[in-house]
Amino acid sequence: MISKKLSAAINAQINAELWSSYLYLSMSNWCQSANYEGMAHWFRLQAREEQDHADIFSRYLVQQGDKVILQPINAVPNEWGSPVDLFIDALRHEEKVSKLIAQLMKMAVQEEDFTTQSRLLYFIDEQVEEEDSFRTIVAELQQIGACECGCGLRMLDDKLHQRAN
Ligand code: MG
Repeated sequence: MISKKLSAAINAQINAELWSSYLYLSMSNWCQSANYEGMAHWFRLQAREEQDHADIFSRYLVQQGDKVILQPINAVPNEWGSPVDLFIDALRHEEKVSKLIAQLMKMAVQEEDFTTQSRLLYFIDEQVEEEDSFRTIVAELQQIGACECGCGLRMLDDKLHQRAN
């Protein structure tokens, strides 16, 4: 049994995960338009991963005998100046998501809801991975930024095309 307050917060998190998915689809489309096929592919997979996060939270609420209430998803940005601007935006977004997950954990700890704490541990670990992967790409893009010929950007795009899941 989960409290009404925690259930409402998890429902809000489901919306936040779906918004993330929407954001990454938009980023994928921008990359595709800018001819970065590998980045477009990478973000399509990232968008699917965010849907999986929403699914995990949804299943958890249902398992707890609760109800998932899907809300409208707000509009997302669709214009960026460059790949590095776009990935910095994505990294900032993941840092915000980490804070949202931490707030959920704080609430579950205050309520002594141990099962929700256990479920949230997966997401706390996951956010470390997410931030790390975005931060690594931002750092690579910044290193490439110093190089004039553009071949570094093509190589990174090829590397991101190899993402499998
Ligand atoms: Mg997520």
